[in-house]
Amino acid sequence: AKESGKNQYRFCSAAMKEEVSERLSVANSLAGALERGELRLLYQPQLSLHSGRIIGMEALIRWERPGIGSVPPQLFIPIAESTGLISAIGDWVLRTACEQNKTWQDLGLPRVRMAVNISVHQLRDPGFASKVTGTLVATGLDPEDLELEVTESGAIREQDQIVQVLGEIKQKGVSISIDDFGTEYSSLSRLKQLPVDKVKLDMEFVHGIEESPKDQAITRGMISLARNLGLKVVAEGVETQAQLDFLESRMCDEVQGYYYYRPLSAEEMEEVLRTAAAG
Ligand code: C2E
Ligand code: CA
Ligand code: CA
Ligand code: CA
Repeated sequence: AKESGKNQYRFCSAAMKEEVSERLSVANSLAGALERGELRLLYQPQLSLHSGRIIGMEALIRWERPGIGSVPPQLFIPIAESTGLISAIGDWVLRTACEQNKTWQDLGLPRVRMAVNISVHQLRDPGFASKVTGTLVATGLDPEDLELEVTESGAIREQDQIVQVLGEIKQKGVSISIDDFGTEYSSLSRLKQLPVDKVKLDMEFVHGIEESPKDQAITRGMISLARNLGLKVVAEGVETQAQLDFLESRMCDEVQGYYYYRPLSAEEMEEVLRTAAAG
C-alpha cells in the first residue's frame, strides 16, 4: 500500500522481512517438492451413522521437508495458492487420490468414496471440469467414487464462475461437498443456488457441542437447514462419544474424526479396508 512514508518504514520491520524471506524460502523449496517426492497423502475414514460402516475417506496432503520435518498444510497451501503452485499440486493430489482408490477397488476391497480437497484457485480454471473427467478416465475410477470438498468462502465470492464449474462436475456424477460449513454466515442464503450434495459441518461447532448450548443450537440449526435443502450432512472433527451421541440424535448422516481414526498412511488405510471387508 502506498500510504505515508512513515507507514512504509514501519511495514519493513525486521520481523516483517524475516516473514517475507521465510515465505520465499518455503515457496522455493515447495516448487521442487513434487518432483523430489516429498509430498504424500494421508487418508481419514468417513463413517455412515446409519450403517456404522466406512463409506468414504478424505485425502489430506503432507509435506515432509528435508531437514525441517513435516510442514502443516495450513502453512504451505496458502503459499502454494499465492504462487500458483497449487495448480500442479492440486493436479497431483487429484490424480494420486483417484489412482489409489481405483487400486484398492481392484484389490477387491470395499468400494468407498474418495473425498479430495479443492482450492478455490483450482476452480477458477475454466478447464477444471474437463481436468476432473480426464483424471477419472485416465485412472478408471467411477465418478460416483469421487467427491470434491470446496470451502464455502471461495464458492461464494466468485459465485457465477464457481457455480458453473461445480455444476459441470456434478453433472458427471461426482459429488460436491461444502467444507467448513457454517463458518461464513452469508452462505446460508446462497446454499440453495449451489450445485452441491453435502455439507461438512465445521469442527469448531462440533467441538463446542459439549460445553456450549449455543453451539448445540447452531449445529442443530445447520443440520436441519441442510436436510431441508435435501443435502447430506457430515460432521468433521468428532473426538468424543458425547459429540457423537448429539450428532446421531440430530440426524447427522456421516462422521469423521479422531474418535474413530486419525488420518492414516496408505498402508494403514488399506489394512482398515481389509478389516472392514472381513467384518
Ligand atoms: P480441512 O479440509 O477442514 O481438514 C480437516 C482437518 O482436521 C485436517 O487437518 C484433519 O487432519 C484434521 N482433523 C481430522 N479429524 C480431526 C479431529 O477429530 N480433531 C481435530 N482437532 N482435527 C481433526 P490437516 O490434515 O492438517 O489439513 C488442514 C487443512 O489443509 C484442511 O482442512 C484443508 O483445508 C487443507 N488441505 C489438506 N489437504 C489438502 C489438499 O490436498 N489440497 C488442498 N487444497 N487443501 C488441503
Ligand atoms: Ca476438507
Ligand atoms: Ca473442514
Ligand atoms: Ca478447514
